[in-house]
Amino acid sequence: MMSGPMLTTYSMWSLFRNCRKACDWRYLHELVPLERDHNLSFGSLIHECLEIWHRDRELKRVLDHIDRACPNQAQDERELRDWHLATAMMKGYAARYPTEEFEVVALEKTFKGKIVNPATGASSRSFVLAGKVDGIVQIGDEFFLLEHKTASQIDADYLERLWTDFQIILYAWYVERTLGLRIAGILYNILVKARLQQGRGETEAEFEERRRRLAAKSKTGKSSAKRKLPESDEAFQERLAAKYAEPGMFHRETLYISRDQFAALQAELWELTQAFLDARRRGVFYRNTAFCFHYHRPCAYFPLCRSGGSPNVIENLYHKVPPHEELRDGGGEPPQANCARRANACCGRHNPPRQAGTGGEPQDCLCGSHIEEAPAF
Ligand code: SF4
Repeated sequence: MMSGPMLTTYSMWSLFRNCRKACDWRYLHELVPLERDHNLSFGSLIHECLEIWHRDRELKRVLDHIDRACPNQAQDERELRDWHLATAMMKGYAARYPTEEFEVVALEKTFKGKIVNPATGASSRSFVLAGKVDGIVQIGDEFFLLEHKTASQIDADYLERLWTDFQIILYAWYVERTLGLRIAGILYNILVKARLQQGRGETEAEFEERRRRLAAKSKTGKSSAKRKLPESDEAFQERLAAKYAEPGMFHRETLYISRDQFAALQAELWELTQAFLDARRRGVFYRNTAFCFHYHRPCAYFPLCRSGGSPNVIENLYHKVPPHEELRDGGGEPPQANCARRANACCGRHNPPRQAGTGGEPQDCLCGSHIEEAPAF
């Protein structure tokens, strides 16, 4: 017997829509893969950096945060790559936006509200919806949700696809009711991930082989080739800094919300709640195998589904993590994410940050224990 309405997020409903079985694994069995998704983890780090930057506008604090988030960079190549990229990205960002056209109203703002049947106006007794927005900003006399994105590249397709970002539009509706601000639209703040790699240099054997090949081609039978040494951290940072000085590495896109979208999204959300209740009552969460490779890589639960839910696979590849991590540690990431760093960062910092633009009074703790309640609507 459940004690009250089930806390849900858009991530959960989105996953339920895409593959009911994945939703079952994550939200009812509470399973998360042990191996975390690296892309999501990097995106989370940048979200944290942007929160610090927009709160304090002190680059040193941002860079210190990156240092702390990558403590094993001397031994761990991937962590070193993240450190380089995050450091250069945030230095470039600070240089690109030394001043802002907007005032920050709130950062990493959580909300919780009822799910309403738009046909009758009745609230669901089974579910409530919670979420977190990266920020709320004011431009002139209009309010916008600030939404950070890290992208591999920005092109016309990418910008077109922002229209399908229903999560943020639904969140705008909840934020309006929670805070009493009319949200005019979404300000997408897009940061591109540079694809540069740090030169790793040649091993002695690689160098000898290259020199041998050059000498074989040379008329003299000799080669003056020198061994390529690994690129220093300083030299790589310089190359990255030059890249982040290019205009296409940061982009802001404003999308105005049509009020009709609110009603359509509420209706869809209500339909999902009814389908979930039915699936849970019957204990049937069917698999959508068309979704298994949706992101051009196997779904996080692929080994589990393939093994028919084998307890051995669960024991070796998954662990239990309570759902809705995004409410605790900031960022709104998909439920497949398993980012120990972000979870730890949250749980270790019950230290309310300062709220920008309001004279520095404490803001909600990010642990999710101070979720703003929306009034009944
Ligand atoms: S592996 Fe496929 S069927 Fe299984 S949960 Fe993932 S998407 Fe669904």
